Amino acid sequence: MDQSPTQLSCRRCQASFETPEHVLLQCLGIPELVAVRNDFRTRGAVSIPDLHPRFVLSDGDAISLLKQAIFSWTAVSFTAKFVYKAIQIWSFTVTGGRVRYGSESEDSDPDVFS
Ligand SMILES: [Zn+2]
Repeated sequence: MDQSPTQLSCRRCQASFETPEHVLLQCLGIPELVAVRNDFRTRGAVSIPDLHPRFVLSDGDAISLLKQAIFSWTAVSFTAKFVYKAIQIWSFTVTGGRVRYGSESEDSDPDVFS
């Protein structure tokens, strides 16, 4: 029996379905990802005030903010960098690195927001 990814519990926290918005903006199951997310939300709040980390996000809020971050001309550059870094962390932690994007030299970039 196949299940859609949106029907599967998060492999890190089991607190929600494993959706893009959960992984990127809500999951607390990977401390490194939480730190990268908090930095993204703090910096992104300049362009999108609701991104500020003081806000706990409902599922609907997470979808809305993800759309705002992706479609904002002023936020799209660091949103792309955040998503890239978050997926790197997620794939390495959850799947053991089987899903990789980019080269090793890009992976070693310590400042994703520069
Ligand atoms: Zn989770």
